[in-house]
Amino acid sequence: MKFGGTSVADLERIRRVARLVAAEVETGKRVAVVVSAMAGKTNELVAWTDGCGPAAQGLPPSDDEYDAIVASGEQVTAGLLAMTLRNMGLNARSWMGWQVPIITDDAHGRARIDEIPPEKLVAAMDRGEIAVIAGFQGVDREGRIATLGRGGSDTSAVAIAAAVGAACCDIYTDVDGVYTTDPRIEAKAKKLARISYEEMLEMASLGAKVLQTRSVELAMAQRVPVRVLSSFVEPGEAPGQGTIVCDEEEIVEKRIVSGVAYSRDEAKISLLGLPDHPGVSSTIFGRLADANVNVDMIVQSRARDTNHANMEFTVGKRDAARAVKIVEDAQAEIGFESVAVNEDVAKVSVIGVGMRSHAGVAKTMFTALAEKGVNIQVISTSEIKISVLIDAAYTELAVRALHAAYGLDQL
Ligand code: ADP
Ligand code: ASP
Ligand code: MG
Repeated sequence: MKFGGTSVADLERIRRVARLVAAEVETGKRVAVVVSAMAGKTNELVAWTDGCGPAAQGLPPSDDEYDAIVASGEQVTAGLLAMTLRNMGLNARSWMGWQVPIITDDAHGRARIDEIPPEKLVAAMDRGEIAVIAGFQGVDREGRIATLGRGGSDTSAVAIAAAVGAACCDIYTDVDGVYTTDPRIEAKAKKLARISYEEMLEMASLGAKVLQTRSVELAMAQRVPVRVLSSFVEPGEAPGQGTIVCDEEEIVEKRIVSGVAYSRDEAKISLLGLPDHPGVSSTIFGRLADANVNVDMIVQSRARDTNHANMEFTVGKRDAARAVKIVEDAQAEIGFESVAVNEDVAKVSVIGVGMRSHAGVAKTMFTALAEKGVNIQVISTSEIKISVLIDAAYTELAVRALHAAYGLDQL
């Protein structure tokens, strides 16, 4: 069972979580619980590091002291939940990442889990102890605390579930499942009873933060059955069915499009007047890759005079300033005319495995946006998604228009 930040936001909610855990234990199951920090806590800790660390200069947080600071929120909630369970007469103890141990690489701030030796946890659970594990954190091979990237407690939960061979991994949050789009933006969003790993992976990586992308990757690779459900239930009430994330074959009702996602975390960089010869893209994207800048959408087009090209690409907002600097530093060598950055953009995407076998999905998208007067700046597609980059001011309008255009209001 994993509980996110809003589910453990104060002592009253922690008591509610404890009741849900107790109810699960009463059914005879052995339970491991993963908790996030209290809502808002991690943001506060990150803001403190901004004030004194390299993140202040816009560098990625790859600092082991950053992790020592931001991992602390989960230590508090793990302790509080274990203490609450004990006060209810249950046998529980808290586990920090290093105690389990959840062993990670040393990419601080966005570490990946390498392995989780399950013996100690399993032995504790076999003794009848509820294991309350601090999410988001692990320990690198040097013994330093490492964190798994924002939203990383989901990944902690799936990784623990895989390591101990759990029957399932229940992710409790502030919504009662995965919806056709963010219910905060579209009140007509519908809860999906099931969603395939692949669609969930696209939804997560395209902005639906209900599950961290890496947690879905891991669940898919390790075949961990994941359920998303609400912790906001009254005492004695069951948490409902939630959404099951599973193999495509297990889904009976076939939809062409399952969901709409959006992200305001991107920035668009435009390069004008690039010389049009082999090696230019290789230089630009090579430099960006060397600096660990992830590039998402890319378009290149011929400029009006035939010897030049224009190029646009998107990077995470956090990386935008660095990316521009890297490109500018290469200007003399590459010889383009100008570079500009636009942070007022949003990426809106439609996702569905049915796209593989249906024509006309893109047409529906472009028509719906055109009817609302939304201009498309960049388009990218994969087998099961179409994304467009638009002016950020139109994000909600576009999400709602697409939600209606694919009949998701009517599911
Ligand atoms: P937690 O703190 O429990 O990890 P998050 O805030 O990370 O919770 O994720 C839950 C939030 O994800 C919801 O409150 C909702 O606004 C948002 N969300 C975005 N897209 C979706 C979607 N398609 N379905 C459900 N929730 C979504
Ligand atoms: N507390 C961490 C965060 O806010 C991890 C998580 O909530 O999953 O990013
Ligand atoms: Mg989350």
